[in-house]
Amino acid sequence: MNLFNQIQAGLNAVPEEKLQHLLQRWQEFGGLTGSTGTELALSSQQRQYLASLGPVRIGFMDDYAPFSFTDGGRVRGLSVDIMNRLVDLTGLQAIPVSGQWDELIPMLKNGDIDVMANMSHRPERESFAHFTSPYHIIPNVIFTRDESLNYQNLEDLKHYRVGLGAGIYYEETLRQLLSNGTLLSFHSQQPMFQALASGDVDVVIGALHSGNYWIRQLGISGTRIAGELQLPGFSGEDLRFGVRPALAPLADILNQALTSITPTEQQVIETRWLGASNQPSLNTAELVHWTDTESLWLEQRNREIRICADPDWMPLEGVRDGKHTGLAADVLELFSQRGNLRFRLVPTSNWQEAIAAAKDRRCDMFPMAMRTPERSVYLDFTSPYLEVPNVVIGRIEAPFIQRLNELEGGRVGIVEGYAFAELLRKRNPSLQLVTVESEQEGLRKLQNRELIGYVTTLATASYYMQSMGLADLKVIGRVPADWSLAIGTRNDEPTLHGIMQKLVLSLTPAERTQLESTWRNLRIEERVDYTRFWQILSLGLLATALLVYWNRKLGRLNRELAEANTALSRLSVTDNLTGLGNRTYFDREFSNSFQWCLRHQTGFAVAMVDADHFKKINDNWGHEAGDRCLESLANTMREHFRRDTDRLARFGGEEFVIFASYQDADDIKARLNRFREEVATRRCDTCKDKGIDLTVSIGLALGFPTPEHTSAEYLRLADQALYTAKRNGRNRLEVIPAGQTSGPDEAEHPKA
Ligand code: GH3
Ligand code: MG
Ligand code: MG
Repeated sequence: MNLFNQIQAGLNAVPEEKLQHLLQRWQEFGGLTGSTGTELALSSQQRQYLASLGPVRIGFMDDYAPFSFTDGGRVRGLSVDIMNRLVDLTGLQAIPVSGQWDELIPMLKNGDIDVMANMSHRPERESFAHFTSPYHIIPNVIFTRDESLNYQNLEDLKHYRVGLGAGIYYEETLRQLLSNGTLLSFHSQQPMFQALASGDVDVVIGALHSGNYWIRQLGISGTRIAGELQLPGFSGEDLRFGVRPALAPLADILNQALTSITPTEQQVIETRWLGASNQPSLNTAELVHWTDTESLWLEQRNREIRICADPDWMPLEGVRDGKHTGLAADVLELFSQRGNLRFRLVPTSNWQEAIAAAKDRRCDMFPMAMRTPERSVYLDFTSPYLEVPNVVIGRIEAPFIQRLNELEGGRVGIVEGYAFAELLRKRNPSLQLVTVESEQEGLRKLQNRELIGYVTTLATASYYMQSMGLADLKVIGRVPADWSLAIGTRNDEPTLHGIMQKLVLSLTPAERTQLESTWRNLRIEERVDYTRFWQILSLGLLATALLVYWNRKLGRLNRELAEANTALSRLSVTDNLTGLGNRTYFDREFSNSFQWCLRHQTGFAVAMVDADHFKKINDNWGHEAGDRCLESLANTMREHFRRDTDRLARFGGEEFVIFASYQDADDIKARLNRFREEVATRRCDTCKDKGIDLTVSIGLALGFPTPEHTSAEYLRLADQALYTAKRNGRNRLEVIPAGQTSGPDEAEHPKA
């Protein structure tokens, strides 16, 4: 009781705001749910990044209605509304900058603006922009006032004067397909449609909504849409935000925020700018409009399309009782309503047979397949409508891998005929790929140690690991390319390709989101042990999440996994920057350690380490250099605390915790002091030539735990000692013996 009073007195001496601060930090990470009320779960690092970022300049085209345009001096439109929503979600400070595409792109390249709206992803743009996922996809169409134009394909435009936007992503391809003379490019939309109105051009190719807007604005009579622009490899125009590479983490944050926009919010924004015609229609089957050729093609086949499917690729697709099922079947169901057509399954006993049937033209299409060079010989592909992470599964005891080539020398399985069987053979020829007939066979061989790794999708792996009850497998790595799934149609039927492409493009963002979430929210059938399933799935997701942290480039997967299960991702225990334990690790290990010391009657030491004047380092050298300093600090810490009983964690920001059992108090103090001195002499070995001056202050609480103590009390005392160390001039160690001292003033002050 006496002891309790002493501790209580010690606690009372902790300044209120310090306690508040501490409490808040605990809630931010630990088991308590914070009261933030927002679904966007940014990591503390991301929040810090945003805070350090300052205002960000966002480029909006001023003539790209209804996506962005200036109105009464203000820039407005769908893209602006989406960005405003992102600003709300993230707390980003945004300054809109409006101008024409041709002006804004050079600004993005030289850093005068940070983000550009309405950008379509093109490989050649990756050198100057990191892309978010699309926030809207718009079809490109052919506008004309010429009644005689019967548009089937681009050939039909050969003898017309065609206007299009300068620098638009398909300009080059079009120039190659049409002879140069007939193409006129315009630097902005309004003069282009004026040219259509005055007859200076016969045809304008442009984005559907944007064209409609200008046709209404300029009152161009007799304009019609002759068809949709379909170029191999180009879907509709994907509107994304492009972030300049120096701000790459911002692209991930925006991406994450984009997924937090609810379908309803998205809907409200789309309805506001695109009008009611754009309502999604999951059940009400808004009909897709077929051209005469397409209608004829369908009628000739009694509106029936023969499909071949993988019977064993659940939950993506499968065949049960002779019926096509899975996510692919849901998509086809939607398409059959929307396009007034039917799909008939041509039965095959496995994927290899399905491929043979497609090659023999015994079926017309694959509902869910990825484009590969070999398949392109006999199939055309629509735009992808689903992306699924590509993972390597291994045995539970296998180490995690960062690169596929770490598996060289062992047998790696994949299903024969799967896209990545072909792609990996090409990209990783040194890998010893072994093909199996089905997912089940691959997983079983892995379990029997006939394989050391098995490449598959996260969706199907989770599914079969649960249905087969395989608890001894886990995700051990990532393949740095995902399964990009599209519809593959026989390439001797271009009309069919057009039909399926139209249907794929008819998927609204909300529908796509729903598809995405379907495989992540797997419902389990009866007879299956739920706990087991979730354990296995969590293990897989946890492992993948870990890998993602290790490979910081994989922001997209990170987002998907965060979506898949935010709670699970919290189980990840490694801090991404320093490789030390993260806050979750700390929360879990700290009280374990304490209990262990209590049981074994040994001393328990907790040191809080905080970098001194770290804000200045960021201010003087930049946030990147600051990060390098934290890495360097973590390395020094690891070198000094490598005993079995030492535990290291990044507590948050530039604060770390070291906790350990000890026998000799002087020994642990000496080790901490050596570490502190080493930090000061080594400075930080960043690439900056001279290194950066860095010191740390350390607050140590130590004592022999008794049942009346809690681990949290030790932490508070350590924090209090740290506070004292800061107050006494920094770059020093202050010690508070737990259970013996009541206030900061009685702390020991060894010579720093
Ligand atoms: P002192 O602790 O000595 O009182 O001063 P300080 O400047 O370190 O003060 P404080 O602890 O309040 O601020 C910590 C700063 O560390 C704030 C933030 O900008 C920076 N910081 C936190 N986390 C990170 C990070 O992950 N990377 C970088 N570069 N800086 C970070
Ligand atoms: Mg601090
Ligand atoms: Mg500090």
